[in-house]
Amino acid sequence: MSKQVAAGRISSLPTTIFSTMSRLAAEHHAVNLGQGFPDFDGPDWIMEEAFGAMKAGKNQYAPMNGVRAFRRAIAGYQKKYYDLDWDPQTEITVTAGATEALFSTMLALIDEGDEVVMFEPFYDSHQANTILAGGIPRYVTLKKPDFRFDPDELERLVSERTRMLILNNPHNPTGKVYSREELDFIAGLARRFDFLVLSDEVYEFLTYADAVHVPIATLPGMRERTITVSSMGKTFGMTGWKLGFAVASPPLTAAIQKVHQFVTFAVNTPGQHAMAHAIGRLESYLPELRALYQRKRDFLLEGLRETIFRPHVPAGSYFVMVDIPPDIGEDDVACAMRLVRDPGVAVIPPSAFYGASDEGCTMLRLCFAKKEETLKEGVEKLRCISI
Ligand code: PMP
Ligand code: GLN
Repeated sequence: MSKQVAAGRISSLPTTIFSTMSRLAAEHHAVNLGQGFPDFDGPDWIMEEAFGAMKAGKNQYAPMNGVRAFRRAIAGYQKKYYDLDWDPQTEITVTAGATEALFSTMLALIDEGDEVVMFEPFYDSHQANTILAGGIPRYVTLKKPDFRFDPDELERLVSERTRMLILNNPHNPTGKVYSREELDFIAGLARRFDFLVLSDEVYEFLTYADAVHVPIATLPGMRERTITVSSMGKTFGMTGWKLGFAVASPPLTAAIQKVHQFVTFAVNTPGQHAMAHAIGRLESYLPELRALYQRKRDFLLEGLRETIFRPHVPAGSYFVMVDIPPDIGEDDVACAMRLVRDPGVAVIPPSAFYGASDEGCTMLRLCFAKKEETLKEGVEKLRCISI
């Protein structure tokens, strides 16, 4: 072909660092503490529900906006845990993972030239979707050591041109859980400058010790301008099922569904029935989930003490950022490439999640959603690295 193959709008998109590192992990038989997914199974009883749904003939297209029981279950838990009332018919869209919810939302709501503010490190698809939608990403850096943002810097960045701010709370990759004060400040700007907030809350139930997750939609004046996205893959440890959703006011939901109907139309039916049931058991399941992940977090943090990598203790998510000692003389990419080859540990170099600051070059991201034996093996290998 003499013509350029790819459309211009994708020319600046990279291959996701998650696929790159998982491919290298497999190639080098490395312990994979990189891509964020559990290396153990989700609950058996959810699988039984899915088999049951299949056997009961729930195998054809689901309604475009999702199986009714699942939408009702989502509305139910949003009410129970956050006192948010969402109408399952007009305010909820079931999507192929949070990934599709983010994509459909941004394509539906961002116009060419709209400014989209995001905190960095960002989740990679937030930046990619902004570019695909023709928006202009603007970055505010969450700075070490506590990953807070400078309110003045954020205030200077937003304007009438700001169409949307993307929040990821609890935060991948830093494990930050935004405080009520921080959220109040963001909400104040959203009301003043009349912009939307896309709140990616896929780790909503993964918080540790006394950290409390506050959905920004619960703040005054925010319900009608917030699109909240979450994922069953995280809550129930089944990332491969790719079941997520977006909740937002009726006009926002109608716009999101215009895109969703032409991206996937509907997503897998038996999985939605199983997840409707799973949400019904959240109350007894959540303490187990939190205890499990807190143990894994603490196990990894303890293990890291015997390595040269100093962790930033995460309050949420299933990631931990560690500092690369400056004396090592390597940036994050060089260090990650070395570790995956020898001693054989895959981690994520987070510079891929920054658009303005180069602070990402000084850290590595490790995932602790792994079996204890995987974490143990990973730490033992990291112990071999000296300055
Ligand atoms: N947002 C964030 C912050 C994530 O970390 C992830 C996946 N790890 C997603 C969205 C995508 O979720 P899903 O797998 O449900 O598409
Ligand atoms: N969200 C996962 C992570 O942060 C990866 C998901 C993906 O590979 N797209 O590692």
